[in-house]
Amino acid sequence: MQTSSYLGRRSLRTNPITLRYLEVILPLPLEGYFTYAIEDELFHSSIVGCRVIVPFGKRKIYTGVVAREIDSKPNFHNLKEVMDVLDEKPILNVHQIKFILWISEYYMCSVGEVYNAALPTNLKLSSDSYVHLVPDVEIDSQSLNDHEFNVIQALKHNELSTEEIRQVTGLKSPYRIIKSLQELGYIHLYEKLKDKYSPKTETRVRLSNEYMEASKIEAITNSLEKHPKQMDVILSYLQSVNVLEFPTENESGLTKKSLISEGISPSSLGTLVKKGVFELWEEKVDRFGEITKASYKIPSLSPLQELTFGEINEHFEHNLPVLLKGVTGSGKTEIYVKLIDEQISLGKQSLYLLPEIALTTQIISRFRRIFGNRFGIYHSRVSDNERAETFKNCLEGKFDFVIGVRSSTFLPFQDLGLIIVDEEHESSYKQYDPAPRYNARDCAIYLAKIHKANILLGTATPSMESHFNGLNGKYGYVHLNERYGEQPLPEISYIDLKKSRKQKTLKGFTSQELLSEIEASIENEKQVILFQSRRGYAPFLQCDSCQSVPKCMNCSVSLTYHIYQNQLVCHYCGFKQFFDPNCGTCGSDRLRTVGAGTEKIEEELSLLLPDVKIKRMDLDTTRNKNSYQKIIDDFEKGDIQILIGTQMVTKGLDFDHVNLVGVYDIDRLIHYPDFRSHEKSFQMITQVSGRSGRKHEKGKVLIQTSDPEHPVLKEVLKDDPFPFYQNELDEREAMKYPPYFRLIKIVLRDRDKKLVSDAVNRLHLMLQKDLGNRVLNPVEPLIGKIRNYYLQELFIRVERENRNLKAIKEYAKACRDTLLALPAFKSLVIHFDVDPL
Ligand code: ADP
Ligand code: ZN
Ligand code: ZN
Repeated sequence: MQTSSYLGRRSLRTNPITLRYLEVILPLPLEGYFTYAIEDELFHSSIVGCRVIVPFGKRKIYTGVVAREIDSKPNFHNLKEVMDVLDEKPILNVHQIKFILWISEYYMCSVGEVYNAALPTNLKLSSDSYVHLVPDVEIDSQSLNDHEFNVIQALKHNELSTEEIRQVTGLKSPYRIIKSLQELGYIHLYEKLKDKYSPKTETRVRLSNEYMEASKIEAITNSLEKHPKQMDVILSYLQSVNVLEFPTENESGLTKKSLISEGISPSSLGTLVKKGVFELWEEKVDRFGEITKASYKIPSLSPLQELTFGEINEHFEHNLPVLLKGVTGSGKTEIYVKLIDEQISLGKQSLYLLPEIALTTQIISRFRRIFGNRFGIYHSRVSDNERAETFKNCLEGKFDFVIGVRSSTFLPFQDLGLIIVDEEHESSYKQYDPAPRYNARDCAIYLAKIHKANILLGTATPSMESHFNGLNGKYGYVHLNERYGEQPLPEISYIDLKKSRKQKTLKGFTSQELLSEIEASIENEKQVILFQSRRGYAPFLQCDSCQSVPKCMNCSVSLTYHIYQNQLVCHYCGFKQFFDPNCGTCGSDRLRTVGAGTEKIEEELSLLLPDVKIKRMDLDTTRNKNSYQKIIDDFEKGDIQILIGTQMVTKGLDFDHVNLVGVYDIDRLIHYPDFRSHEKSFQMITQVSGRSGRKHEKGKVLIQTSDPEHPVLKEVLKDDPFPFYQNELDEREAMKYPPYFRLIKIVLRDRDKKLVSDAVNRLHLMLQKDLGNRVLNPVEPLIGKIRNYYLQELFIRVERENRNLKAIKEYAKACRDTLLALPAFKSLVIHFDVDPL
């Protein structure tokens, strides 16, 4: 990749040059595009979407992407010039630029923030400080000290890195010199840019040209009689590559690795390279191996699936997004396969979105079995280099489709024909932090529109929003209500914890009923999945003497006790401290644990069922890259009999021998103070039930609750979910919540508690002026302090069909800007969260 040659170009310029004008996206949290001039010499006709190097402010230099060319000279007096163009061909196509712009507008953040999320880190450029002379500056050499003089002399030939300046001056720290020269106005500091992306290479070996004759080979082998190891190298090589009969084969030689794997000695190979018999060279390899487009075979659909497939396509014909509601195990994935296959035969690409790839390794292997390596994978658990490579492969049109998480909506698709959003109800499609706070499911709808592509949202438990769109005809709504192969759906029952407590049959946190069923499953050589939403040992500790609860020093939350590390941990900021058996407030040693996390359930069951193989799967046991896969593999092999876990165990897993799923704390989910808690509970129970009893056998789901009569729990038992959805919709409408209304959350943060509450009240008043009761009263969020920042929230509520949404957003941004311009609120941070979850 080139580096900038700002100075060179400037000083070479003799004739008046023609300028053109560009709008550039810079990776900054500032509104809008930035306008630059570019000289004709640097300009090329496909410059939109290419990366450019531009100066910014007094002494910064950035890499941006050209968003568009503008025709006439803009009216700025100090218009700056593009210093260099990094790409010959666009790295972002026009669709992507449009998409990025739309996200920034809809989600109320800067295009630069979206651009930052869109491009893999390694394709963005990293920088170091460099120094160059200000062009045409008059230097008063008399006023310089020796060091300064030397630096200026050196800079007359070349720009210098800070390291080079250190060498020129012989000073330990050259920063004082740099600073004084900068203050004198003689030099500029800038960031030198280099491309972090490094393609993977392999070392290859071949016989040197001069040894490509029979006589030469004979001579060298004769001379090596006393060196059998070197002889081995030559013989091994000649065995694989017949250089005399097929000399062209020697061109590509062998990989060093393969030669060494034959058992030859690497140091003997090294000696022969030194002697000039062999030569080594580096060759770039594709991280994913050759993408061979082998033929493949897809399974045939059942008659019912075939019908569904037809229905979906009919809606596609009418350019409608489709919502597929199919019970778990109905064969939605088989239908996706068929739809992708259809696109492949049309020569178009597909995007298959999943909420969290790490949790869906089973789906990936299923797709590998069918499609081989025709598809790319894009998610956060692969390395930065792999992400960059997938991005480039996509740019070059190498993949038929990509399976990826939300960020894969930013990939440079050439001819996108289909998007599938699997598990569309999942909240992990939404990015919380940092901006852009986008929901990839909703963005995918817009992405499909730009590409004129089909889009399918699939789930067993639609979100209220999608269900609503299905009902009102905005989406085609397709149902697949039968499991494939007549596998029965599991039977759900509730265990009344109040009763268990009264009868004193609870074993710690596990009811007698659940325990007996677990034992029965193990007896029958089946497996069990247990779900508990909290990790750690105990959600908090409490002192029996003074009732105090250890809290995080940075956040307003209690610390979770982790028994394995014997630590108290804050799940919000990561703060940790070793467990102290004495109360921090009164010194008493009567600290007791309250509630249970996965560790505690694991411990209790290990005591109750000492001979059973129990494993835990939560954030703490899956931090390493492969640990998640290992647990899944062990469970599949039967090396684990009971798997206890958080949300992770409820998602996308499909095991043949699980016949029991137990749920510990549904109450917490149902009573969580959020208007979506009923929707979430309903989805969770239905999804977790899908994990039980897949092949030919009816599974069981046991849910422990203190409130078995709760309406949500009763509704889940019914075959027809529509009454639940309708009831929920009615409530949402009455309470003015989504999907009938859109919410915009405004979050204010500051280290000063009073300042945030003053700020939120002022912002409230300002917004109210124009928006009236669309602005709700400020609230302190459930957790009012995180990482030493106090938080306040404000909601704007807009009717779904309100045509002025754009203007309302603009107004809100203007109010924010007015507030932040006040000196008192200089330290305040404000962000918007559109359609918060
Ligand atoms: P879903 O995605 O709706 O949960 P799956 O596609 O995973 O359902 O199907 C459930 C199970 O049934 C899988 O093991 C799958 O291989 C099998 N299955 C579904 N449809 C077919 C089909 N048409 N032919 C063969 N097996 C199928
Ligand atoms: Zn105490
Ligand atoms: Zn904390």
